[in-house]
Amino acid sequence: MAGDGGLTPAGHQFGCVRSGNGSLMSAHGKTGPGQRVVIAGGGFAGFHAARTLGRLAKGRLDVVLVNPTDYFLYLPLLPEVAAGILDPRSVAAPLATCRGVRHVLGAVTDIDTGGKHLAVRDPDGNRRMVGYDQLVIALGSVNKLLPIPGVADHAHGFRSLAEALYLRDHLLRQIEIADLAEDRAERDARCTFVVVGAGYTGTEVAASGQLLTRIAARRRAGLAGQKLRWMLIDIAPRVMPELDPRLSAIASQVLSARGLEIRTGTSVEHASADGVKLSDGEFVPTSSLIWCVGVRPDPMVARLGLPMQKGRLTVDEYLTVPGHPELHACGDAAAVPDLTRPGSVTAMTAQHAQRQGRLVANNIAASYGLGSGGTRRRPYRHQDLGFVVDLGGLKAAADPLGIRLSGLPAKAVTRGYHLLAMPVNRTRIATGWALDAVFSRQLVQLGLVRSGAVPLTAGTPEHPGPPTTGAPPTPDSTG
Ligand SMILES: Cc1cc2nc3c(=O)[nH]c(=O)nc-3n(C[C@H](O)[C@H](O)[C@H](O)COP(=O)(O)OP(=O)(O)OC[C@H]3O[C@@H](n4cnc5c(N)ncnc54)[C@H](O)[C@@H]3O)c2cc1C
Repeated sequence: MAGDGGLTPAGHQFGCVRSGNGSLMSAHGKTGPGQRVVIAGGGFAGFHAARTLGRLAKGRLDVVLVNPTDYFLYLPLLPEVAAGILDPRSVAAPLATCRGVRHVLGAVTDIDTGGKHLAVRDPDGNRRMVGYDQLVIALGSVNKLLPIPGVADHAHGFRSLAEALYLRDHLLRQIEIADLAEDRAERDARCTFVVVGAGYTGTEVAASGQLLTRIAARRRAGLAGQKLRWMLIDIAPRVMPELDPRLSAIASQVLSARGLEIRTGTSVEHASADGVKLSDGEFVPTSSLIWCVGVRPDPMVARLGLPMQKGRLTVDEYLTVPGHPELHACGDAAAVPDLTRPGSVTAMTAQHAQRQGRLVANNIAASYGLGSGGTRRRPYRHQDLGFVVDLGGLKAAADPLGIRLSGLPAKAVTRGYHLLAMPVNRTRIATGWALDAVFSRQLVQLGLVRSGAVPLTAGTPEHPGPPTTGAPPTPDSTG
């Protein structure tokens, strides 16, 4: 990349300066090894694709990973960051751990499939073009926004480190201010927390958030006897509607026993600074509206003009776009045929995204005769191994290989699964859990992320998405 210092590899020509502040990072156009493979998005799918391809290519391919942050975020542990159990850095795997891969810091703003290049904007607003010979689209998904009055102004989302840190501070702040409030109504409102969206994300956020506020309130003499009201709202008929009903039942039982109010078949009609009006007619005074209504695929893939299914890019079982052997997609952004359930596509889960990322890398390596499998490509086939849901404290729900677990066994499986799935930082995470088990939770606000820094948009603070209003809801997934 011209003028970027150190991004020009041997065997590639860069530096074709374009008008404006951009530069062209051109791909070679040769056949065989030495070509450039660009991976757009460094989440579950993109990170594992880059890591695998970098290892298989051993320097014989130019592997480039474009991502707006310099880390891969292990999203399933984000609720534990918000709960103050884990250090935020421990759930962020540096992209630098992908050997043989060059990271381009920035967001893809446009993909020209005819000209085989992407436009990338870095955090300082500089625009660059990056050419490719093969492209993996792994842009993931964005917050699902519903056009409900007041939500954009008064709710906060939950899919980035900044949002997790904001939520942690916000919850502690409500408790600390409630302690001082002389007005009973204000104290009650500050001690009321509403999570909208009872997918696995909303359920975990509510479970861990409730325990955090309980610990914080116990340390405040002024809140002795004060009720902490947590509500989990969803239009669906049960919590975690995307998972096995037996897991839902365990979660409902655990949360209800803790006094958390579960309102299924209910939605939000409007939100204001004073609270939320629910579709059942109740107005709930609160300063805490946490938006976990789910995700929809990144809208950028819709702009490609290629066949889509429910907002996801259509690919074949080899994760390649039909008619475009140089274009691949995986993870939440791709509609991957589920060969174990003919006629359906794979769910938007980390489990699929991670495996699809590895497979796409193997197939691309095979197209260059790299790797141990020769030039044979493999189709994607994966039977769900089950799901794990952390319910805070010693509780969890899990169904590894179809075996339903609750309580401590489920908790052990849940934590073991996350440790195995986390590519780095395992010792840091295990140490965080051990410290939390032995010492009392450290409750201090850091004050680093203020409300305005984490607006509820389709994107994340690191990569803001389109504006809030008007985004059509899609039925893809919750959680
Ligand atoms: C809070 C939370 C908890 C979850 N918990 C679980 C769980 O317990 N189990 C489970 O199976 N699933 C869970 N999921 C869902 C799971 O994380 C997703 O299915 C998975 O992340 C999909 O992987 P992906 O690579 O497609 O997308 P992502 O992991 O979201 O990665 C997309 C990447 O693309 C980057 N990106 C976005 N736009 C651009 C752009 N324009 N240019 C460049 N890069 C871009 C993003 O920064 C990100 O790094 C959870 C999701 C959330 C939000």
